[in-house]
Amino acid sequence: MSARFYADLPLMSGSAISLPEQAARHVQVLRLQPGDRITLFNGQGNGEPGSEGEFEATVTRMGRSDVDVTLGAYTATRREAGRAIHLVMGMPANERMDWLIEKATELGVASIQPLMSERSVLRVKGDRADKKLAHWRGVASAACEQCGRNRLPLIHQVASLTDWLKNGLAETPADAGTRLLLSLQNGTRPLEQAIASHGALTFLSGPEGGLNPQEEAAAMACGFAPVSLGPRVLRAETAPLLVLSRLAQ
Ligand code: SAM
Repeated sequence: MSARFYADLPLMSGSAISLPEQAARHVQVLRLQPGDRITLFNGQGNGEPGSEGEFEATVTRMGRSDVDVTLGAYTATRREAGRAIHLVMGMPANERMDWLIEKATELGVASIQPLMSERSVLRVKGDRADKKLAHWRGVASAACEQCGRNRLPLIHQVASLTDWLKNGLAETPADAGTRLLLSLQNGTRPLEQAIASHGALTFLSGPEGGLNPQEEAAAMACGFAPVSLGPRVLRAETAPLLVLSRLAQ
């Protein structure tokens, strides 16, 4: 697989483009030269609805900070998980959140909804929330460059758990499927039983301090069925990956 770069702009075979700044910088760091072959993807395939794939491209000019390429053949290459998995979670602390987004992207997560709950350590709003969201989307696109996914996971703006259950849940895709709550307090049913079906799945996981009893009750009242991940207490960034790793293929 030739070096892959995410290019957030329309891509079309036969066209000549200048790479976006992030991708150009990455090409410069790799000291690529004119004639070198790379792979580009933009998350929208060739622009047809629902398409996802990647383009061959050839470097034509290496400027001081800009890079020009011509695009070659498009292939509708799909490297997604076999079912849509939506992660809704009380955010772990800063650097762990980046790590979780990177690993969840590699494992095929379809969307990530970061939440703040009563015991959340990481709390962001306004400009800081916008900056965090842009940073997380960059972490996800870099993970797609590395793992070969041509569809970026959707990362939503941070919300409070209460608001999200009241408003956000209604906006989740109709096919967001089975709802599971990863719960140390109320989870008695083993995860394996709950994921036996093959449809989409939305699961809610708590922050380091866990969800409080009222938050768990509110989630269950919205149809999130509590499940157990076993006898050990997993970290806020480990628990979601256990679920994703059971489903990734
Ligand atoms: N002291 C917290 C508590 O008792 O909830 C620990 C929270 S744990 C570090 C972070 C989150 O991971 C939990 O809120 C839960 O969603 C999930 N989790 C961790 N271990 C789990 C397990 N064995 N079964 C179900 N969920 C688990």
